[in-house]
Amino acid sequence: MAPQFDRRGFLGATGVALAGLPFLGATPDRLAAAVPAGAADASWRGAVHAGYIGKMELKYEIFDLPTVHDFAIAREGARLRRDVWVRLRMPDGLEGWGEAAATPYYGETAESVVAELPRLADALNAAIGDDPFAMEKADKALEVALGRNPSARAAISMALHDLVGKRLGVPIWKMWGLTPAGATSSFTIGIDTPEIMRQKVKEAAAYKNLKVKVGTPRDEEVLKIVREGAPHAAIRVDANTGWTAKQAVAALPMLEEFGVELVEQPVPADDLDGLELVRSRSKIPIVADESCKVATDVAHLVGKVDGVNIKLSKCASLREALKIVHVARAHGMSLMLGCMVESSLGIAAAMQLAPLVDWVDLDGAALLAKDPFMGPGIGPDGSLRFNTEPGLGVKRA
Ligand code: MG
Repeated sequence: MAPQFDRRGFLGATGVALAGLPFLGATPDRLAAAVPAGAADASWRGAVHAGYIGKMELKYEIFDLPTVHDFAIAREGARLRRDVWVRLRMPDGLEGWGEAAATPYYGETAESVVAELPRLADALNAAIGDDPFAMEKADKALEVALGRNPSARAAISMALHDLVGKRLGVPIWKMWGLTPAGATSSFTIGIDTPEIMRQKVKEAAAYKNLKVKVGTPRDEEVLKIVREGAPHAAIRVDANTGWTAKQAVAALPMLEEFGVELVEQPVPADDLDGLELVRSRSKIPIVADESCKVATDVAHLVGKVDGVNIKLSKCASLREALKIVHVARAHGMSLMLGCMVESSLGIAAAMQLAPLVDWVDLDGAALLAKDPFMGPGIGPDGSLRFNTEPGLGVKRA
């Protein structure tokens, strides 16, 4: 079953009929009631109060993420996504920011994220009070109180790190003892008509690494278009669980012929034996994405894949991402760093981890028609641009 999340379908699927309102699902009256008194300054217009953590105030806004092209993968296609911008504000005005890149595949929507925020604020209030430095405690408390809800928790983890970095006056990567360097990011060419795909490849001419979504009956045609349009680019493919193990093994000679550099998630997420089979037949590295959400998943993938793909919206926090790095490295595995279609705010948080991985795939904000944030991320050729500003180094665009 491949749900189609166009705008109407997406709104219908989330039970929302009020398209055009900044906070879908709320009536204007409820919005007015939700905006606290004293929030009249322009920078806070539209923010909704979700609770207090000690004296820190938690606020959120849902924002649209229109993409330049339809973004189709083996599972779904979408042109419009909506994410949640969360802000933690200390009494002295210092703010930490985070983005929840809610993904239906992982059980979340922007609405489910904001519905959880008051509960999240209560749990954090009980666990850490006024201490944003108590991040391990915060992670544990949110896991217990919220269960998975990974992008909601990730947004809070980003905001706490942003606050701590700003308080200390250092970027997060520097706080972790890293140096600002890493592999060039890939750029995704979404599945589309041949004409549009040729156009997309042309637009992406500056990128040295292209990522192609496979797992549809058009795989060979799609790879041919990309290889012809970009004869010298490295090509990575991502099946997003779209093949059976047998289909994936059958596709390997073709992938080798097109010089594919790595294969991401060839088979369904729970088919670990399938991953092992594909890897045993493949000269191309196999990377688990949907099969690897958190650090404990890595243990089950040892010997079955060459590497794992870390995404904050799956693993639920920057600290959990670091744990994945350590568990995977302890087993001699390679690491990829990925993202959803998300703004430069979420990308900025992932960028802090980029010096630790082998393959970077942080094109989420580069696929947007309009990005509400500015910060570290990838340049027009996929090169990595780190922040020198403290915390995540993100501003409003
Ligand atoms: Mg993937």
